[in-house]
Amino acid sequence: MQHEALKLDSDHGNGSYGTAAFEARPIIGNAREKLLDIKGIKKYFPVKNTIGVTKKYVKAVDDVTFHLYEGETYGLVGESGCGKSTLGRTILRLTDPTDGEVFFGGTDIFKLSNSEFRKQRQNLQMVFQDPYSSLNPRKRIGDSIAEPMVIHNIGTSQERMERVFDILEKVGLHADTYYRFPHEFSGGQRQRIGLARALVVNPKLVICDEPVSALDVSIQSQIINLLEDLQEEFGLTYLFVAHDLSVVRHISDRIGVMYLGKMVEEAETDELFANPLHPYTKALLSSIPHPNPKIKQEKIILKGEIPSPINPPSGCNFHTRCPLATDICKQAVPKRVEKRPGHFVACHLAE
Ligand code: SF4
Repeated sequence: MQHEALKLDSDHGNGSYGTAAFEARPIIGNAREKLLDIKGIKKYFPVKNTIGVTKKYVKAVDDVTFHLYEGETYGLVGESGCGKSTLGRTILRLTDPTDGEVFFGGTDIFKLSNSEFRKQRQNLQMVFQDPYSSLNPRKRIGDSIAEPMVIHNIGTSQERMERVFDILEKVGLHADTYYRFPHEFSGGQRQRIGLARALVVNPKLVICDEPVSALDVSIQSQIINLLEDLQEEFGLTYLFVAHDLSVVRHISDRIGVMYLGKMVEEAETDELFANPLHPYTKALLSSIPHPNPKIKQEKIILKGEIPSPINPPSGCNFHTRCPLATDICKQAVPKRVEKRPGHFVACHLAE
């Protein structure tokens, strides 16, 4: 789907949640083959006391289960510190998982040895919020983009050079980018370079960690359009991590909502916006301004701060801020239940 510029959402007028900046994206892909199957993934960071003994853990990702279909974009949203970026990094084993399974092509990649995983890593790439930090300031851009091919022992040096020129063109950068250095580029151009670096080894999955958060809105739309074009051309699957629901709504086929390390709701994009079931999702959606200022949208203000992931609340970890919390919420962890086809929620009171 080509988007020439940011478009205003049409007037829903049906009580569902609108967005000010982007319009929703239609569902793509009929073949619903799972590319990645994530089961019970956990990432706990140890917290040591003054004498170096681990007494507590930061539960950054706590028992998260979901999957990605081939060719789709799965948006992962939540407030900063909810664990969404850590989840992406854990899937790619950039940080060691505490527990769980991640099946890619039928293989649990958490069980692979480092050398076995290195072979798979070519298929699983990541784009960061700040691509500048992943580029060596003293290396020419062409050499930085070619680096993943060197690591994976792909092609001769001549073939690698040709591939870099090819991928520079695909991401909309001039060929002379090859010979220049990172400091010579703007944020949007650096993100194109980051994309080129990820795509040069022809991956199947790209985890995009807040790829447009640091960019101006007009540049955001260019990068989003580019991501969509590249997805179509190369058949990519994206896990798109972001805190901006407008952006996530625009690009995602399905959305998962995280709170304090847990996935609290998951559904196809239109379904989530039309029928949010979890009180936290409802609060998040209510904070998006409706494109039609005549439509009054009640904003749900959550009380209190996000609790510490070192000592998360008992039962449902949202109960300290939930306007609907009852006694059961303080005692029992709500299970992930499929309330409608493809619409999962973890809440005792969701109907
Ligand atoms: Fe709120 Fe209880 Fe549902 Fe948690 S389980 S979201 S506290 S109603």
